Amino acid sequence: MPVTEQFDAVWSGADIATLRNGRYDIIRDGAIAVRGDRIAWVGPRGALPPADVTAQFDFGGGIITPGLVDCHTHLVFGGNRSHEFEQRLNGVSYAEIAAAGGGILSTVNATRNASEDELMAAAEARLAMLMADGVTCIEIKSGYGLTLESEIKMLRVARRIAQAYPVQVRTTLLAAHALPPEYRGRADDYITLICESWIPEVAALGLADAVDGFCEHLAFSPAQISRVFDAAVLAGLPVKLHAEQLSSLGGSTLAARYGALSADHLEYATDADAHAMAQSGTVAVLLPGACYMLRETQLPPVELFRRHGVALALASDINPGTSPACSLRLMLNMACTLFRMTPEEALAGVTINAARALGLSASIGTLEAGKMADFVHWPVAHPAELAYWLGGQLAGTVIYRGVRRA
Ligand SMILES: [Zn+2]
Repeated sequence: MPVTEQFDAVWSGADIATLRNGRYDIIRDGAIAVRGDRIAWVGPRGALPPADVTAQFDFGGGIITPGLVDCHTHLVFGGNRSHEFEQRLNGVSYAEIAAAGGGILSTVNATRNASEDELMAAAEARLAMLMADGVTCIEIKSGYGLTLESEIKMLRVARRIAQAYPVQVRTTLLAAHALPPEYRGRADDYITLICESWIPEVAALGLADAVDGFCEHLAFSPAQISRVFDAAVLAGLPVKLHAEQLSSLGGSTLAARYGALSADHLEYATDADAHAMAQSGTVAVLLPGACYMLRETQLPPVELFRRHGVALALASDINPGTSPACSLRLMLNMACTLFRMTPEEALAGVTINAARALGLSASIGTLEAGKMADFVHWPVAHPAELAYWLGGQLAGTVIYRGVRRA
Protein backbone atom coordinates (compact mmCIF):
# COMPACT_ATOMS: atom_id res chain seq x y z
CA MET A 1 0.00 0.00 0.00
CA PRO A 2 1.72 3.27 -1.09
CA VAL A 3 1.94 6.00 1.51
CA THR A 4 -0.49 8.74 0.49
CA GLU A 5 1.00 12.25 0.27
CA GLN A 6 -0.68 15.27 1.77
CA PHE A 7 -0.70 18.41 -0.40
CA ASP A 8 -2.36 21.75 0.37
CA ALA A 9 -2.62 22.57 -3.33
CA VAL A 10 -1.70 21.23 -6.75
CA TRP A 11 -1.24 23.70 -9.61
CA SER A 12 -1.20 22.07 -13.04
CA GLY A 13 -2.17 22.42 -16.69
CA ALA A 14 0.86 24.49 -17.79
CA ASP A 15 4.40 23.83 -18.96
CA ILE A 16 6.90 24.53 -16.18
CA ALA A 17 10.23 26.31 -16.76
CA THR A 18 12.05 25.24 -13.59
CA LEU A 19 15.24 27.29 -14.28
CA ARG A 20 17.22 24.48 -12.68
CA ASN A 21 20.94 25.02 -13.44
CA GLY A 22 20.04 28.31 -15.08
CA ARG A 23 18.24 26.63 -18.02
CA TYR A 24 14.56 26.70 -18.99
CA ASP A 25 14.49 22.96 -18.13
CA ILE A 26 10.89 22.67 -19.36
CA ILE A 27 8.49 20.12 -17.89
CA ARG A 28 5.64 19.63 -20.40
CA ASP A 29 2.15 19.52 -18.88
CA GLY A 30 3.62 19.90 -15.41
CA ALA A 31 2.26 20.04 -11.89
CA ILE A 32 3.50 21.77 -8.74
CA ALA A 33 2.34 20.40 -5.40
CA VAL A 34 2.53 22.78 -2.44
CA ARG A 35 2.63 22.02 1.28
CA GLY A 36 2.64 25.05 3.56
CA ASP A 37 4.88 27.70 1.97
CA ARG A 38 7.06 25.14 0.17
CA ILE A 39 7.10 23.18 -3.06
CA ALA A 40 6.50 19.55 -2.04
CA TRP A 41 6.72 18.05 -5.51
CA VAL A 42 7.22 19.20 -9.10
CA GLY A 43 7.13 17.12 -12.30
CA PRO A 44 4.92 15.95 -15.17
CA ARG A 45 1.25 15.92 -14.16
CA GLY A 46 0.98 12.26 -15.16
CA ALA A 47 3.64 11.30 -12.61
CA LEU A 48 2.03 13.08 -9.65
CA PRO A 49 2.13 10.70 -6.66
CA PRO A 50 -1.16 9.57 -5.09
CA ALA A 51 -2.11 12.28 -2.61
CA ASP A 52 -4.80 13.88 -0.50
CA VAL A 53 -5.07 17.31 -2.10
CA THR A 54 -6.95 20.16 -0.44
CA ALA A 55 -7.21 22.37 -3.53
CA GLN A 56 -6.66 21.66 -7.24
CA PHE A 57 -6.06 24.35 -9.86
CA ASP A 58 -5.79 23.84 -13.62
CA PHE A 59 -4.34 26.72 -15.63
CA GLY A 60 -5.43 25.24 -18.96
CA GLY A 61 -2.19 26.17 -20.75
CA GLY A 62 0.61 28.71 -20.44
CA ILE A 63 3.98 28.68 -18.69
CA ILE A 64 4.92 28.62 -15.01
CA THR A 65 8.26 30.16 -13.97
CA PRO A 66 9.83 30.85 -10.59
CA GLY A 67 8.75 34.18 -9.08
CA LEU A 68 10.95 36.98 -10.40
CA VAL A 69 13.67 38.37 -8.13
CA ASP A 70 14.64 42.05 -8.43
CA CYS A 71 18.08 41.92 -6.81
CA HIS A 72 19.12 45.61 -7.07
CA THR A 73 16.66 48.42 -6.37
CA HIS A 74 16.51 51.87 -4.81
CA LEU A 75 12.73 51.53 -4.40
CA VAL A 76 12.46 53.90 -1.41
CA PHE A 77 13.07 57.59 -2.20
CA GLY A 78 11.43 60.98 -1.90
CA GLY A 79 10.23 62.96 -4.93
CA ASN A 80 11.36 62.10 -8.43
CA ARG A 81 13.47 63.76 -11.10
CA SER A 82 11.11 63.90 -14.07
CA HIS A 83 11.49 67.70 -14.15
CA GLU A 84 15.28 67.32 -14.55
CA PHE A 85 14.70 64.76 -17.30
CA GLU A 86 12.59 67.37 -19.07
CA GLN A 87 15.11 70.18 -18.41
CA ARG A 88 17.96 68.15 -19.90
CA LEU A 89 15.91 67.49 -23.03
CA ASN A 90 15.31 71.23 -23.24
CA GLY A 91 19.05 71.81 -23.36
CA VAL A 92 19.93 72.51 -19.72
CA SER A 93 23.28 70.86 -18.90
CA TYR A 94 23.80 68.38 -16.09
CA ALA A 95 26.30 70.80 -14.50
CA GLU A 96 23.68 73.59 -14.45
CA ILE A 97 21.11 71.23 -12.94
CA ALA A 98 23.60 70.08 -10.29
CA ALA A 99 24.59 73.70 -9.50
CA ALA A 100 20.90 74.45 -8.88
CA GLY A 101 20.73 71.64 -6.29
CA GLY A 102 19.53 68.99 -8.73
CA GLY A 103 20.85 65.51 -9.39
CA ILE A 104 21.25 63.05 -6.53
CA LEU A 105 21.23 65.88 -3.97
CA SER A 106 17.66 66.78 -4.85
CA THR A 107 16.67 63.18 -4.08
CA VAL A 108 18.69 63.28 -0.84
CA ASN A 109 16.85 66.46 0.22
CA ALA A 110 13.45 65.07 -0.75
CA THR A 111 14.16 61.81 1.09
CA ARG A 112 15.43 63.57 4.23
CA ASN A 113 12.35 65.80 4.26
CA ALA A 114 9.82 63.00 3.72
CA SER A 115 8.17 61.25 6.65
CA GLU A 116 8.36 57.46 6.94
CA ASP A 117 4.69 57.29 5.90
CA GLU A 118 5.29 59.46 2.84
CA LEU A 119 8.25 57.32 1.75
CA MET A 120 6.14 54.21 2.32
CA ALA A 121 3.26 55.49 0.18
CA ALA A 122 5.59 56.45 -2.69
CA ALA A 123 7.42 53.12 -2.55
CA GLU A 124 4.15 51.16 -2.43
CA ALA A 125 2.99 52.63 -5.74
CA ARG A 126 6.20 51.54 -7.46
CA LEU A 127 6.20 48.15 -5.71
CA ALA A 128 2.68 47.48 -7.00
CA MET A 129 3.93 47.83 -10.59
CA LEU A 130 6.88 45.49 -10.00
CA MET A 131 4.65 42.92 -8.27
CA ALA A 132 2.12 43.06 -11.10
CA ASP A 133 5.02 42.12 -13.36
CA GLY A 134 5.72 38.90 -11.42
CA VAL A 135 8.25 40.04 -8.79
CA THR A 136 8.06 37.92 -5.60
CA CYS A 137 11.37 38.99 -4.00
CA ILE A 138 13.00 42.41 -4.00
CA GLU A 139 16.18 43.93 -2.63
CA ILE A 140 15.86 47.52 -1.36
CA LYS A 141 18.83 49.81 -0.66
CA SER A 142 19.16 52.87 1.52
CA GLY A 143 21.53 55.57 0.25
CA TYR A 144 19.43 58.72 -0.22
CA GLY A 145 19.39 59.71 3.44
CA LEU A 146 23.12 59.99 4.11
CA THR A 147 22.49 60.75 7.78
CA LEU A 148 22.14 57.88 10.22
CA GLU A 149 18.60 58.92 11.06
CA SER A 150 17.42 59.09 7.46
CA GLU A 151 19.27 55.94 6.37
CA ILE A 152 17.48 54.13 9.21
CA LYS A 153 14.20 55.71 8.08
CA MET A 154 14.66 54.27 4.58
CA LEU A 155 15.53 50.81 5.91
CA ARG A 156 12.52 50.86 8.25
CA VAL A 157 10.28 51.55 5.26
CA ALA A 158 11.83 48.54 3.50
CA ARG A 159 11.13 46.36 6.55
CA ARG A 160 7.55 47.72 6.69
CA ILE A 161 7.05 46.69 3.07
CA ALA A 162 8.09 43.15 4.04
CA GLN A 163 5.41 43.18 6.75
CA ALA A 164 2.66 44.67 4.61
CA TYR A 165 3.16 42.69 1.37
CA PRO A 166 3.66 39.02 0.49
CA VAL A 167 6.82 39.90 -1.44
CA GLN A 168 10.10 38.85 0.21
CA VAL A 169 12.40 41.81 0.97
CA ARG A 170 16.17 41.97 1.48
CA THR A 171 17.56 45.27 2.73
CA THR A 172 20.96 46.78 1.99
CA LEU A 173 22.73 49.65 3.76
CA LEU A 174 24.15 51.90 1.03
CA ALA A 175 25.43 54.79 3.16
CA ALA A 176 28.54 54.94 0.91
CA HIS A 177 26.38 55.94 -2.07
CA ALA A 178 27.33 59.62 -2.35
CA LEU A 179 29.12 62.18 -0.22
CA PRO A 180 26.58 64.15 1.83
CA PRO A 181 26.90 67.94 1.30
CA GLU A 182 27.87 68.43 4.97
CA TYR A 183 31.03 66.37 4.31
CA ARG A 184 32.24 68.13 1.16
CA GLY A 185 36.04 67.77 1.03
CA ARG A 186 36.01 65.33 3.97
CA ALA A 187 35.14 62.00 2.35
CA ASP A 188 37.48 60.02 4.61
CA ASP A 189 35.73 61.46 7.69
CA TYR A 190 32.37 60.38 6.29
CA ILE A 191 33.69 56.85 5.64
CA THR A 192 35.03 56.74 9.23
CA LEU A 193 31.58 57.69 10.51
CA ILE A 194 29.94 54.94 8.44
CA CYS A 195 32.47 52.34 9.59
CA GLU A 196 32.66 53.21 13.27
CA SER A 197 29.10 54.21 13.99
CA TRP A 198 26.49 53.55 11.31
CA ILE A 199 27.29 49.98 10.25
CA PRO A 200 27.50 48.66 13.86
CA GLU A 201 24.31 50.51 14.80
CA VAL A 202 22.27 49.41 11.76
CA ALA A 203 23.52 45.85 12.23
CA ALA A 204 22.53 45.91 15.91
CA LEU A 205 19.04 47.09 14.92
CA GLY A 206 18.78 44.20 12.45
CA LEU A 207 17.80 46.60 9.68
CA ALA A 208 20.27 45.52 6.98
CA ASP A 209 20.91 42.17 5.35
CA ALA A 210 23.97 43.44 3.43
CA VAL A 211 26.24 46.46 2.93
CA ASP A 212 26.81 48.14 -0.44
CA GLY A 213 28.87 51.07 -1.76
CA PHE A 214 29.48 53.09 -4.92
CA CYS A 215 33.07 52.78 -6.11
CA GLU A 216 33.60 55.51 -8.70
CA HIS A 217 35.56 58.75 -9.19
CA LEU A 218 32.44 60.77 -8.38
CA ALA A 219 31.74 58.65 -5.27
CA PHE A 220 34.26 56.60 -3.25
CA SER A 221 37.70 55.12 -3.95
CA PRO A 222 38.62 51.42 -3.65
CA ALA A 223 40.60 52.26 -0.47
CA GLN A 224 37.52 53.90 1.08
CA ILE A 225 35.22 51.06 0.00
CA SER A 226 37.63 48.55 1.44
CA ARG A 227 37.27 50.23 4.87
CA VAL A 228 33.47 49.99 4.54
CA PHE A 229 33.78 46.28 3.69
CA ASP A 230 36.05 45.68 6.70
CA ALA A 231 33.37 47.20 8.94
CA ALA A 232 30.66 45.09 7.27
CA VAL A 233 32.68 41.92 7.84
CA LEU A 234 33.12 42.90 11.50
CA ALA A 235 29.35 43.36 11.78
CA GLY A 236 28.76 39.98 10.15
CA LEU A 237 27.11 41.40 7.01
CA PRO A 238 27.80 40.29 3.42
CA VAL A 239 28.82 42.94 0.89
CA LYS A 240 27.90 44.05 -2.66
CA LEU A 241 29.25 46.90 -4.78
CA HIS A 242 28.28 49.38 -7.50
CA ALA A 243 31.46 48.94 -9.55
CA GLU A 244 32.99 49.74 -12.94
CA GLN A 245 29.93 51.71 -14.08
CA LEU A 246 31.68 54.76 -15.52
CA SER A 247 35.37 53.81 -15.32
CA SER A 248 37.65 50.92 -14.41
CA LEU A 249 38.85 51.21 -10.79
CA GLY A 250 39.05 47.51 -9.92
CA GLY A 251 36.07 47.75 -7.57
CA SER A 252 34.72 44.41 -8.73
CA THR A 253 38.06 42.71 -8.04
CA LEU A 254 38.02 44.33 -4.58
CA ALA A 255 34.46 43.08 -4.03
CA ALA A 256 35.51 39.58 -5.08
CA ARG A 257 38.33 39.69 -2.53
CA TYR A 258 35.68 40.19 0.15
CA GLY A 259 33.57 37.32 -1.23
CA ALA A 260 30.90 39.82 -2.28
CA LEU A 261 27.47 38.44 -3.18
CA SER A 262 27.50 40.62 -6.29
CA ALA A 263 29.24 43.39 -8.20
CA ASP A 264 26.76 45.54 -10.08
CA HIS A 265 26.77 47.65 -13.30
CA LEU A 266 30.22 46.50 -14.60
CA GLU A 267 30.27 48.30 -17.96
CA TYR A 268 34.04 48.79 -17.58
CA ALA A 269 34.90 45.43 -15.97
CA THR A 270 38.14 43.85 -17.22
CA ASP A 271 39.31 40.29 -17.78
CA ALA A 272 41.03 40.41 -14.37
CA ASP A 273 37.76 41.53 -12.72
CA ALA A 274 35.80 38.70 -14.38
CA HIS A 275 38.46 36.20 -13.31
CA ALA A 276 38.36 37.41 -9.69
CA MET A 277 34.55 37.30 -9.64
CA ALA A 278 34.51 33.75 -11.03
CA GLN A 279 36.97 32.66 -8.33
CA SER A 280 34.84 34.09 -5.50
CA GLY A 281 31.43 33.17 -6.96
CA THR A 282 30.47 36.86 -7.06
CA VAL A 283 27.43 37.40 -9.31
CA ALA A 284 27.58 40.04 -12.08
CA VAL A 285 24.38 42.10 -11.76
CA LEU A 286 23.77 44.00 -15.01
CA LEU A 287 21.44 47.00 -15.05
CA PRO A 288 20.24 47.71 -18.59
CA GLY A 289 17.79 50.42 -17.47
CA ALA A 290 20.65 52.65 -16.29
CA CYS A 291 22.66 51.90 -19.42
CA TYR A 292 19.68 52.91 -21.54
CA MET A 293 18.77 56.10 -19.64
CA LEU A 294 22.41 57.29 -19.72
CA ARG A 295 22.63 56.33 -23.41
CA GLU A 296 25.81 54.49 -22.42
CA THR A 297 27.83 53.16 -25.34
CA GLN A 298 30.27 51.10 -23.24
CA LEU A 299 28.40 47.82 -22.67
CA PRO A 300 29.12 45.30 -19.90
CA PRO A 301 31.44 42.54 -21.20
CA VAL A 302 28.86 39.74 -21.27
CA GLU A 303 31.06 37.44 -23.37
CA LEU A 304 33.91 37.84 -20.86
CA PHE A 305 31.63 36.85 -17.99
CA ARG A 306 30.35 33.85 -19.97
CA ARG A 307 33.91 32.73 -20.70
CA HIS A 308 34.90 32.94 -17.03
CA GLY A 309 31.68 31.28 -15.85
CA VAL A 310 30.46 34.30 -13.86
CA ALA A 311 26.73 34.07 -13.11
CA LEU A 312 24.78 36.92 -14.79
CA ALA A 313 21.84 38.55 -13.04
CA LEU A 314 19.61 41.45 -14.13
CA ALA A 315 17.75 44.01 -12.04
CA SER A 316 15.57 47.08 -12.47
CA ASP A 317 17.90 49.35 -10.43
CA ILE A 318 14.70 51.37 -9.98
CA ASN A 319 15.86 54.83 -8.87
CA PRO A 320 14.81 58.42 -9.59
CA GLY A 321 17.94 59.45 -11.47
CA THR A 322 19.33 56.88 -13.88
CA SER A 323 16.75 54.08 -14.01
CA PRO A 324 13.10 54.92 -13.31
CA ALA A 325 12.23 51.34 -14.34
CA CYS A 326 8.92 49.98 -13.09
CA SER A 327 9.06 46.69 -15.02
CA LEU A 328 11.64 43.98 -14.38
CA ARG A 329 10.41 42.15 -17.47
CA LEU A 330 11.29 45.15 -19.63
CA MET A 331 14.86 44.75 -18.36
CA LEU A 332 14.91 41.25 -19.90
CA ASN A 333 14.16 42.73 -23.28
CA MET A 334 16.80 45.44 -22.85
CA ALA A 335 19.41 42.87 -21.75
CA CYS A 336 18.71 40.89 -24.91
CA THR A 337 18.53 43.90 -27.23
CA LEU A 338 21.33 46.03 -25.76
CA PHE A 339 23.65 43.39 -24.25
CA ARG A 340 22.91 40.48 -26.63
CA MET A 341 22.01 38.14 -23.79
CA THR A 342 19.71 35.25 -24.76
CA PRO A 343 16.12 35.17 -23.43
CA GLU A 344 17.09 32.06 -21.44
CA GLU A 345 20.09 33.85 -19.86
CA ALA A 346 17.87 36.86 -19.16
CA LEU A 347 15.24 34.73 -17.39
CA ALA A 348 17.96 32.99 -15.35
CA GLY A 349 19.19 36.51 -14.55
CA VAL A 350 15.96 37.42 -12.75
CA THR A 351 15.43 34.03 -11.09
CA ILE A 352 18.23 31.72 -9.98
CA ASN A 353 21.13 34.14 -10.54
CA ALA A 354 19.29 37.05 -8.92
CA ALA A 355 18.57 34.75 -5.95
CA ARG A 356 22.30 33.99 -5.82
CA ALA A 357 23.08 37.73 -5.82
CA LEU A 358 21.01 37.98 -2.61
CA GLY A 359 22.42 34.82 -1.00
CA LEU A 360 19.00 33.15 -1.35
CA SER A 361 19.62 30.49 -4.00
CA ALA A 362 19.02 27.66 -1.51
CA SER A 363 15.42 28.78 -0.98
CA ILE A 364 14.21 30.59 -4.14
CA GLY A 365 15.07 31.10 -7.81
CA THR A 366 14.14 27.67 -9.23
CA LEU A 367 11.10 25.40 -9.04
CA GLU A 368 12.34 22.38 -7.11
CA ALA A 369 11.00 20.38 -4.18
CA GLY A 370 11.94 21.99 -0.87
CA LYS A 371 12.14 25.54 -2.22
CA MET A 372 9.73 28.37 -1.42
CA ALA A 373 6.48 28.08 -3.42
CA ASP A 374 6.98 31.43 -5.22
CA PHE A 375 5.89 31.15 -8.85
CA VAL A 376 4.16 32.95 -11.69
CA HIS A 377 1.75 31.69 -14.33
CA TRP A 378 2.15 33.46 -17.67
CA PRO A 379 -0.52 32.97 -20.34
CA VAL A 380 2.12 32.62 -23.09
CA ALA A 381 3.30 29.70 -25.22
CA HIS A 382 7.07 29.96 -24.67
CA PRO A 383 9.27 31.49 -21.92
CA ALA A 384 11.14 33.57 -24.52
CA GLU A 385 7.99 35.72 -24.65
CA LEU A 386 8.91 37.14 -21.24
CA ALA A 387 11.91 38.84 -22.87
CA TYR A 388 10.18 39.45 -26.20
CA TRP A 389 7.14 41.61 -25.43
CA LEU A 390 7.92 45.26 -24.71
CA GLY A 391 5.87 46.30 -21.70
CA GLY A 392 2.21 45.45 -21.31
CA GLN A 393 0.62 43.24 -18.69
CA LEU A 394 1.90 39.70 -19.07
CA ALA A 395 1.92 38.06 -15.63
CA GLY A 396 -1.23 36.08 -14.85
CA THR A 397 -1.49 34.41 -11.47
CA VAL A 398 1.28 35.05 -8.90
CA ILE A 399 1.76 32.64 -5.99
CA TYR A 400 3.69 33.93 -2.98
CA ARG A 401 4.84 31.28 -0.50
CA GLY A 402 2.14 28.88 -1.62
CA VAL A 403 -0.70 31.40 -1.57
CA ARG A 404 -2.37 33.22 -4.47
CA ARG A 405 -2.90 36.92 -3.77
CA ALA A 406 -5.43 38.97 -5.68
ZN1 LIG B 1 22.08 51.10 -7.86
